[in-house]
Amino acid sequence: MLTSLGHPSRPRFLLRIVLPFAAVAVTLNVIAAGFLYWSTAEADRISTDRQRALVDLVISQLRETVAHDQESVTVWDDAVDGVRRRDLGWIDVNLGSWMNSYFGHDGAYILDPHDEPIYASIDGGAVDPTKLYDIWSRAGPLASNLRRRLRDVDEEGISDQVLSIGASDIAVAGGRPAIVSVKPIVSDSGEIEQVAGEEYLHVAVRYLDGTLLQELQDSYLLDGLRFSWDDAVAADEAASPLTGSAGNVMGYYIWRPYRPGSIVFGSVWPILVGLFVTGMAVLSVLLLVLRRRSLSLNRSQAEIRHLAWHDGLTGLPNRVHFEHRLQEAVTTAADRDQTMALLYLDLDRFKEVNDTLGHPAGDMLLREFSERLRRAVDPADAVARLGGDEFTIILRNVDSEEAIEQLCSKLVESARHPFHLSNTQIFVGVSIGVAVGRAGEVDAIDLTRQADMALYAAKKNGRSGYAVFTPDMETLLTERRELERDLRKALDLPEQFQIHYQPLFEAKSKKLVGVEALLRWQHPVRGAVGPDVFIPLAEEAGLIDRLGEFVLRGACIAACGWPVETLAVNASAVELANPAYAMRVTNILLATGLSPNRLELEVTETAMSDMDGVSRANVAALRKLGVRFALDDFGTGFSSLGRLQQLDVDRIKIDRSFISGFGSGNGDEAIVRAIVDLAKARGLRTTGEGVETAEQSSFLAEIGCDELQGFLMGRPLSQDALQDVFFSE
Ligand code: C2E
Ligand code: CA
Ligand code: CA
Repeated sequence: MLTSLGHPSRPRFLLRIVLPFAAVAVTLNVIAAGFLYWSTAEADRISTDRQRALVDLVISQLRETVAHDQESVTVWDDAVDGVRRRDLGWIDVNLGSWMNSYFGHDGAYILDPHDEPIYASIDGGAVDPTKLYDIWSRAGPLASNLRRRLRDVDEEGISDQVLSIGASDIAVAGGRPAIVSVKPIVSDSGEIEQVAGEEYLHVAVRYLDGTLLQELQDSYLLDGLRFSWDDAVAADEAASPLTGSAGNVMGYYIWRPYRPGSIVFGSVWPILVGLFVTGMAVLSVLLLVLRRRSLSLNRSQAEIRHLAWHDGLTGLPNRVHFEHRLQEAVTTAADRDQTMALLYLDLDRFKEVNDTLGHPAGDMLLREFSERLRRAVDPADAVARLGGDEFTIILRNVDSEEAIEQLCSKLVESARHPFHLSNTQIFVGVSIGVAVGRAGEVDAIDLTRQADMALYAAKKNGRSGYAVFTPDMETLLTERRELERDLRKALDLPEQFQIHYQPLFEAKSKKLVGVEALLRWQHPVRGAVGPDVFIPLAEEAGLIDRLGEFVLRGACIAACGWPVETLAVNASAVELANPAYAMRVTNILLATGLSPNRLELEVTETAMSDMDGVSRANVAALRKLGVRFALDDFGTGFSSLGRLQQLDVDRIKIDRSFISGFGSGNGDEAIVRAIVDLAKARGLRTTGEGVETAEQSSFLAEIGCDELQGFLMGRPLSQDALQDVFFSE
């Protein structure tokens, strides 16, 4: 069914569209976040390395500075003189506390040529030089190294800024990290004689912790700078080793490095999270819109498909859809060798309803009928409307042929119930043609043709019934085509046609009052063919106008000299629907000289109830001329007694089926009585048709029926035979 079309289900949409989109979006975001994290970490790393290098640089510059500070007093004649004199007062002022107060040196020592300390001061105060042993652990080797260079007159490193060679290192002094720098005390003028390597030495000590840390922190923004003997650091700290000249690590400077990346990241991440959330929100909205769009697109596609595949009036699948389904049913491999059936349905008397009550009523009938079909048929079986009042049903996987026949009976029965149209109730019926086959063996075209032929046969067998296709139906159809061809030929050779006449009697007096002309066809091969067969054929083949004219002309000529009041001639509804009909009849009357008052045209209800009014106009024009009209076969059509009031006729011919039903106890007598009474009340005359028994005859006479016609009183006779009846005695 088409209802399963369209909408992709929610889980499929989530799986196929939302998930990949979300995955891509999250992956891109993770990559971006990763890249951001990496670049901030890299920025932090570079910045920290820079600060480390800075610390190293500051320390090495400090070593040079200390040495440079020393030169302001060690390259000086007065100092050479002062230390030689061992004037401790002078030494203390100029080489000790001065260095402390002016340059901030933490310690100063003077060594004599034998490296014996003659003076020591710490923090600007003189102390006992012999007590400062720990200085020697480093100053000693430095001093002897320097003396060797002095003796060798190794002047490497001397420049405009550096006036004397020296030796310095990083060492532990007094339990603290320190710069220990040794400089020879030499003459600046060169006028004081000195033995190379035997100079007095000045040792300066500058601690690398304590106040220096504060200075460094302030000058170089080394946040939280401290000195530690080991490199244990907190998460946000960095360590830079303090190494001596020999590469030995003395301890570590530790501080919280400046991390530009983290700072940027810290200020940027809320924005990024915001962007991510917004992005995801926008993506969600877009996906939602996309889903809406695709849903509505699917819907409208389904609608278009539905329109293209369904009949607008009944909502049933249309011809295109039916053909598609039939093809499918015939070829589906899963159904192979299963019995399947195709039903062709055609409403009986639909055209009459349409013509009489109008198209809106016809549409209502079709809708109501399709509703009944839908209810009667399994939803899995496909009902379709091919157009007009033609419907089909495809049955797949049928259990047995009995099942098909049961369904057909059910359908015929359901159509027999009255249909309630806006303000009337009508009785129609349905004829069904059935073709049965095996899926995989039959082909769709054959099946369709067979069902169509079976339908034709069903209609032929009398309406409201069904017929299952049998091969002889094909013969029937061929025969029908041949017959049609022969009929066409016969019209050019009128000797094959003969008009017979059946007498009409007055009911009370049994007097012969008229004749009805009935056409006979003597087929050269088949023999006599009944008008029940060839009249409908002539109507369908468009030959009825010529045939009708032939009968009317012949009958008028024959009847002119006959001693009967009435000549009755049958007129087909197809003839009456021709606007030229009244004119044609008038011409024949003029040409043959038959008085219009003697002619009675027999028409059916169908002809009398046409909507466009052509037939009515023909009837009205001829009645003006004096031609009378009889309503033939009354009671077989769909209309009720009520409609009798509106018909423009002079006589009612009560159908044979009612007369033959007398005595069977189904109330036909009552119906006929009612018809006669009603006709009388309207001033119409009545004829009872098909009177075969004396009982029928006397009953009809008794209830006031005007005329009788039937085998009891007279069969249709040839013109010659009738002539004998009239003129023999
Ligand atoms: P209809 O107009 O109802 O004609 C009466 C039919 O009933 C005739 O059949 C007649 O032979 C038959 N009939 C008369 N009395 C009895 C009876 O007592 N018992 C039985 N069983 N039948 C009786 P027929 O001649 O075979 O004509 C059949 C129908 O063909 C006619 O029915 C009429 O509708 C149509 N028809 C015949 N000739 C013409 C014609 O020239 N033009 C047109 N348009 N239709 C014609
Ligand atoms: Ca008739
Ligand atoms: Ca009749």
